[in-house]
Amino acid sequence: MHTRPVWAEIYRSRLTANYLELRRIADAVSAQGKVALLAVVKANAYGHGMKHCAPLLVESGADWIGVTSVEEGGQARVVCPEARILVMSGVWKGEADAAIEHCLTPIVWEAFHLDMLEEAARRRGLPPRSVPVHLEIDTGMSRQGVRSGACLTETLMRFHAGSPLRLDGVATHFSAPEVLDGEDTREQTARFVAAIESVASLGLRPAWIHAGNSALVVRGEPLAPSLEVAAARLGATLMLRPGLSLYGYAPRLSEAPRLPGPEQLPLAKLSPVLAWKSRIASLRNIDIGEYAGYNSTFRANRPTRLALLPMGYADGLNRLLSNRGSALVRGHRAPVAGNISMDQTMLDVTEIPEVAIGDEVVLIGTQGEESIRAYDLADLTGTIPYEVLCNISARVPRLLLD
Ligand SMILES: *Cc1c(COP(=O)(O)O)cnc(C)c1O
Repeated sequence: MHTRPVWAEIYRSRLTANYLELRRIADAVSAQGKVALLAVVKANAYGHGMKHCAPLLVESGADWIGVTSVEEGGQARVVCPEARILVMSGVWKGEADAAIEHCLTPIVWEAFHLDMLEEAARRRGLPPRSVPVHLEIDTGMSRQGVRSGACLTETLMRFHAGSPLRLDGVATHFSAPEVLDGEDTREQTARFVAAIESVASLGLRPAWIHAGNSALVVRGEPLAPSLEVAAARLGATLMLRPGLSLYGYAPRLSEAPRLPGPEQLPLAKLSPVLAWKSRIASLRNIDIGEYAGYNSTFRANRPTRLALLPMGYADGLNRLLSNRGSALVRGHRAPVAGNISMDQTMLDVTEIPEVAIGDEVVLIGTQGEESIRAYDLADLTGTIPYEVLCNISARVPRLLLD
């Protein structure tokens, strides 16, 4: 039982609505028909709680779910017994058996990934082509994936008829999909199409071709025709992999999207799925000239009323928000006063009438007319909403609401 008044509310209906909104846009961007969607639930569903979010996304129609590791994949398998689960950051030593046992589909690119999976499959006496993997192509991100060229052909040769491994998918990752009209995405797409052609020329027939995160969906532009054609020629399904947008945050695009089609799609309508809340645990008045918090970084320049929140940076509230951030109390913004401690934070509530112990406080979310989004906290701390959401720590319970 969680009794400490710090919690995150996760709204099921918003997660489902965001998924359906992305589905609607994905349908509109494909010239060839249906584009599949992989719902990314890595890092505990971006801090929202994978065990709640993954089954909802699968029920809503997600074709795949994407996790980062075999460990996360095992957790996803428990709550999504039938789903296709992609492990997006490769397999590590000692994980091949678990990957096969939980029917996970790993992304692979290093020779040792293939060696380990082959060895585990042979040890289990599995027949040829029974263990599916997706091969990532490094088209310019230089993070993971096989680089095009000789290296790629050598890797593709490993999927011969006698191998227990089957090339079920080919993927890449774009480095700057939020830049509309970006040269990077165009060049990466061209390299990806060339790699898919190498795959086809060796007679391999992967079922899935995928690339692109939230930005590629939300920009609402038609997919590269060359990519659609390359996938169609293989008889493969093209797939996009949104993450952040499922949780209600559209990536910031370099300019307003120009939307396809005669009827012009409206901008993606997404609602933040998570609200982060606490309650006032204590109140005090301090006089002009008195200080608050460690290192006396807050000095009262008027008679000041301070409210104590029983949460701090150990809950994921970035210490850089000290004297910079704010929270909502009785529909007003109350600034953070002094340095955020590990487990305590103070707010200046001088201007908020009738504040009382037990009042609900919103760190992320809406109260009355005011709202605070993960973007606001990210802007104040020099980061991105992804990090703000992932950093809400494990000791903050996630409450599932409709
Ligand atoms: C995280 C991730 C995504 C999703 O990215 P968003 O920007 O959150 O939509 C897609 N593909 C891969 C490979 C990822 O690692």
